[in-house]
Amino acid sequence: MAEPGLPKLRGVLRLGEPLARHTSWRVGGPADRYFEPADRQDLLDFVKQLPPQEPVLWLGLGSNLLVRDGGVRGSVISLHGALDGLSRDSETTLWAEAGVHCARLAKFAQQRSLAGLGFMAGIPGTVGGALAMNAGAWGGETWREVLEAEVVFRDGRTAWLGPEHFGISYRTVIPPRGFLGFLAARLRVSPDDGSHARATRESLARRKATQPVGRPSAGSTFRNPPGDHAARLIESCGLKGRRIGGAEVSTLHANFILTDEGASAADVENLIQLVRSTVKQQTGVELEPEVKIVGEPGANP
Ligand SMILES: Cc1cc2nc3c(=O)[nH]c(=O)nc-3n(C[C@H](O)[C@H](O)[C@H](O)COP(=O)(O)OP(=O)(O)OC[C@H]3O[C@@H](n4cnc5c(N)ncnc54)[C@H](O)[C@@H]3O)c2cc1C
Repeated sequence: MAEPGLPKLRGVLRLGEPLARHTSWRVGGPADRYFEPADRQDLLDFVKQLPPQEPVLWLGLGSNLLVRDGGVRGSVISLHGALDGLSRDSETTLWAEAGVHCARLAKFAQQRSLAGLGFMAGIPGTVGGALAMNAGAWGGETWREVLEAEVVFRDGRTAWLGPEHFGISYRTVIPPRGFLGFLAARLRVSPDDGSHARATRESLARRKATQPVGRPSAGSTFRNPPGDHAARLIESCGLKGRRIGGAEVSTLHANFILTDEGASAADVENLIQLVRSTVKQQTGVELEPEVKIVGEPGANP
């Protein structure tokens, strides 16, 4: 892709990379171009070389993504193993790059007796994914703790922007015009007397008991509708254990869809549709997916 005079890329660039290798459901077709930058400068060099109309998909740990079997046209930028800088900026601020795992960030804060980010301990994604999704748990939410986020725009410019530049609500973040992706964040922390760390440990233990941790999933498939829980509605419709191909509604937590080896993205998407239509029919509630569904259908959807 590099034209004469443009910097040579140093990261991993692959054509036709199967995205099933990079999503927690372990399904998904190939990306036309898949790029893992060597570092921040390499990422910016890649962005500056993108053709103006090139579609771009960012990938953290793929823990909230359903990539269809036909794969993704354009470029996928994966921060796996890249942009993993993490430090204490001040008494009350941490700086984390977008590729840092949420669990590492939570642990970093806990080891320094800092409260505020414990909710991230059980979220199996990156800071970039948490910023894009406004990820949250146990009453905590990413953007409540963000002082500012560093973004890269489509034209390669970068800027630090406060929350007022984004439309932020439950698991939704609408970025400003020209935005391409998140590079880093400054997050608020406060001194912990030990009670925050204790609460985090208890919440992690509860999660292990109530969620099918360790089996391929994307966490909660559907958003919770106002005043209710998607899991309660799905369970009330008798859908626990319901299967299509290699995809199954978890018998432990009804808002989780699990995949077996050999499952296809179409199995998962068809099960999502079945759950939605059944819940709509039986309860009148329209469930909205929390997971992001991207890419082209396979040849035999
Ligand atoms: C077992 C399990 C438990 C979970 N529990 C929770 C939970 O408690 N709370 C919760 O909120 N979520 C939960 N999730 C879902 C998921 O972990 C979160 O949504 C997480 O924030 C996604 O991060 P990721 O890095 O994997 O993002 P990905 O899945 O890779 O991407 C998600 C979205 O973010 C975008 N994105 C990723 N990185 C960037 C970037 N740098 N710049 C711009 N856009 C970007 C992607 O393009 C995509 O649209 C769970 C998932 C699993 C598998």
